[in-house]
Amino acid sequence: AEAPTAPTAPPYLVIQQVAKSFGTFAALHRVSLTITQGEFVAFLGPSGCGKTTLLRAIAGLDPPTTGSITQGGRDITGLPPEMRDFGIVFQSYALFPNLSVAQNVGYGLRGGGWTRARVAERVAELLTTVGLPEQAQKYPAQLSGGQQQRVALARALANEPGLLLLDEPLSALDAIVRINLRQELRSLQRRLGVTTIMVTHDQEEAMSVSDRIVVMSQGRIEQVGTPEDIYRRPATPFVAGFVGRSAHFDAKIDTPANMLITPDGLRLEARGLAHLLYGARVEVFIRPEDVRIGPEALVMRHHQGVVTHVEFMGALSRVSVELGRLRLDADVPAGMVTALGAFVGSAIPVALPPEALMVFP
Ligand code: ATP
Repeated sequence: AEAPTAPTAPPYLVIQQVAKSFGTFAALHRVSLTITQGEFVAFLGPSGCGKTTLLRAIAGLDPPTTGSITQGGRDITGLPPEMRDFGIVFQSYALFPNLSVAQNVGYGLRGGGWTRARVAERVAELLTTVGLPEQAQKYPAQLSGGQQQRVALARALANEPGLLLLDEPLSALDAIVRINLRQELRSLQRRLGVTTIMVTHDQEEAMSVSDRIVVMSQGRIEQVGTPEDIYRRPATPFVAGFVGRSAHFDAKIDTPANMLITPDGLRLEARGLAHLLYGARVEVFIRPEDVRIGPEALVMRHHQGVVTHVEFMGALSRVSVELGRLRLDADVPAGMVTALGAFVGSAIPVALPPEALMVFP
């Protein structure tokens, strides 16, 4: 069954053929993407892939070299940031150090024709929304990193923007604060229904909060899909290798249909390869939770491997096996290691389920 793709809401942000060069260096190559109203989308990729450049083009901070961007049906490509409808949160908290929390949050509201009382009311409401009702009179230096990011978020939401842009907003925080804040961010975003784009290099973060993930590499979009699409049905070897853990190896198409053979003669069954020619080279990926070992492997097409390493990881243990020259990890429930006969140095049956092999020509 196909997983649902884009939600059915109308398109809100339409990016068409956007390219950006710095001198002769192309940071973005003709990127196209449509984001629907109310979606939470993550731009995910390694350092330097162009995700911040794309976000800055959407904000108008760095206009694209070519291409167009429309927001809510309006062409915003050449519009300066102050004429656009967005709020932004950066990795470094970027608060005004000499202004109180309340003044930081209300900064963009002054001059909006609002009375002092109305601004104060709105600021109090925003601080409650981000869980800081008591901190209005403090200064940024008196707050933790997580609290400063909440203030930055309140400030970004002050004018009820149609679009919330988040540039690695959680990366500077420690693990527990980061996980709590990302969950809160997600529920807040759902409650407000604000279309949101978050730049991150953290795949777990992208998976846990997004409706869809845009995986980027070297200035190009590799894949756009739900977290499950990206994880289970990677479109390219880059996505298969970058998202989640996986072992990968080369193989060739063998006979009969759907059989593969590795350079040292291991024959493996895969799925959906009938269109590939005998002898064609492919790249194969498999995830540690899909590798079967011990009795479970015995009932499938399996090979004899040798256990080289067992690593306790809490709920799971990671059993490393060698299958000829292939080195694979199998993640198994920690309590099962003994029952599976996974002792370092012992022989063990190993199976790679055909449907779990991710094969790329
Ligand atoms: P990171 O996570 O490290 O910020 P990123 O994916 O956000 O990575 P970008 O900041 O978008 O990457 O940068 C993409 C490429 O463009 C990088 O190679 C970067 O060096 C280059 N680049 C970005 N801004 C400029 C600039 N102002 N002048 C020259 N090159 C730039």
